[in-house]
Amino acid sequence: MLTDSEIVNAIHQMRAMFPEAGTTLKADTTFHFLLATILSAQSTDKSVNMVTPPLFARYPTPESLVSAEPEDIEPFIQSLGLYHNKAKYLVKAAQGIVTNFNGEVPHTMKELTSLADVGRKVANVVLAECFNIPAFPVDTHVSRVARRLGMVKPNATVLQIEKRLKEAVPKDEWLDAHHAMIFFGRYQCTAKNPKCTKCPLLPICKYGRDNVF
Ligand code: SF4
Repeated sequence: MLTDSEIVNAIHQMRAMFPEAGTTLKADTTFHFLLATILSAQSTDKSVNMVTPPLFARYPTPESLVSAEPEDIEPFIQSLGLYHNKAKYLVKAAQGIVTNFNGEVPHTMKELTSLADVGRKVANVVLAECFNIPAFPVDTHVSRVARRLGMVKPNATVLQIEKRLKEAVPKDEWLDAHHAMIFFGRYQCTAKNPKCTKCPLLPICKYGRDNVF
């Protein structure tokens, strides 16, 4: 298992490799960013960005979405996976925001996750990106990279990964670290065929060495 300083050094190397790393979801308001983040589950940010402009134009506010039927939403997002469920989630999120938070997207973990079908990862992304509140969202890329590099045990849960990374990484670096790990996982330590032979982290990566040799 990597020590705190080894984790931080590894993430700094990822940031050096991908200095442009940042959110790639496009949204003009906090409400729309929340919707985009919900839509990004098991879909790429690029595919989400392709469907959201007309969706956002049709539903500019939570109030405008609150009485929509999921069937009204589906035509906008049918190119995304799980679009039946996602259409329901968007309407429920709007209903929760209007009913319980006077139409404003809340900005605590407890409140955000009180919205139907908003989980910890979505809430962490919204807290960090929209409200500048330190958070360390753990998605599929962050999980894979953390496990392969031995930042956590191979069977660590998402919550355990979040906890370990928050312990090791200084708070003011959490969001940058999250972005760096996502880009590193997306383009270097890919789910299939990770580029281990050209990876600067190979010397500290047992998974990579087992993969290469
Ligand atoms: Fe990922 Fe391979 Fe690099 Fe390890 S050596 S971090 S498995 S790309």
